[in-house]
Amino acid sequence: MKAKVHIIESLCKECGYCIGACPKKILEPAPYYNQNGFHPVRITNMEECTGCSLCYQICPEIAIEVQKT
Ligand code: SF4
Ligand code: SF4
Repeated sequence: MKAKVHIIESLCKECGYCIGACPKKILEPAPYYNQNGFHPVRITNMEECTGCSLCYQICPEIAIEVQKT
């Protein structure tokens, strides 16, 4: 694991940009809703994350934090 990704679920608007941008394809919409009625993105396999930060850079809602480990 090269980084820790934290999704601020309440900010996610389910646009899917981060899902498309992740080279490892480890982001997906969660099966539940946040308080605004969107499926927040979740990470499926933190071990695979390279820490590239593309998800953080593309998110228009600043809902993703990437912390290098
Ligand atoms: S930091 Fe890179 S590899 Fe990790 S979840 Fe974000 S886009 Fe995917
Ligand atoms: S880019 Fe941001 S707002 Fe869009 S789905 Fe990903 S976390 Fe949610």
